[in-house]
Amino acid sequence: MLLKHLIQILSPKMTIRITSTTTPATPTTTPITAAPTEAATITTTTTPRSPLAPVTPPPTIHHAYMRSALQIATSALQSNEVPVGCVFVHNSRIIASGRNDTNRSLCGTRHAELVAIDKILATHPPSIFKETDLYVTVEPCIMCASALRQVGIRKVYFGCSNDRFGGCGGVLRVHEGDGVGGENKSRNGGGGYEVVGGIYSSSAVVKLREFYVQENGRAPIATSKKGRELKTDNLPLDVDIL
Ligand SMILES: [Zn+2]
Repeated sequence: MLLKHLIQILSPKMTIRITSTTTPATPTTTPITAAPTEAATITTTTTPRSPLAPVTPPPTIHHAYMRSALQIATSALQSNEVPVGCVFVHNSRIIASGRNDTNRSLCGTRHAELVAIDKILATHPPSIFKETDLYVTVEPCIMCASALRQVGIRKVYFGCSNDRFGGCGGVLRVHEGDGVGGENKSRNGGGGYEVVGGIYSSSAVVKLREFYVQENGRAPIATSKKGRELKTDNLPLDVDIL
């Protein structure tokens, strides 16, 4: 009612009809485009967003690549690996993809990014990374962030932040600066690299949570996770990318 009162003060000739269909929660208000003497309708039709309601960012090519990475993360989940997936894109083409492979290989360093980097180096010169971008569902860990710096990646797009091991701002900021004394330059002569986080971050988090509630059938002693619930609250918001 305060909004109605204010508008009537500003535009006394305006006829206002306010339609509210929801409980108060950050309502969106359509802009008033009618002339001052015409009737205007302010509609507050915000539907409270459920925790699982997908955020619908603008469909850009970055989202398309991240969806590919999410599909790979899903395949990792189905293989009982921590669901992290990535794709490397060069000249608008995916030249390699990777997913976590630590459980199958029994090697703790087989993270999605390193798996894909190995594939690229097997068939391309290292210089290709200067013109290559990475899309990965979870912020690279410190190890992978350093590897990406050493190969000279151009830019990294990630989904959710990695608050425990992140090397692109979550814990350390390995991607920034020229390195200590300027001697930590990458193989390709570059220093740090640019990062953009938050693309489909909620989807990436849900996959991680799904992993941690499912049974680990490959464990020597199957880990019972019965009783664990898939939490769908406190999901991060996605960012818009232009
Ligand atoms: Zn890693």
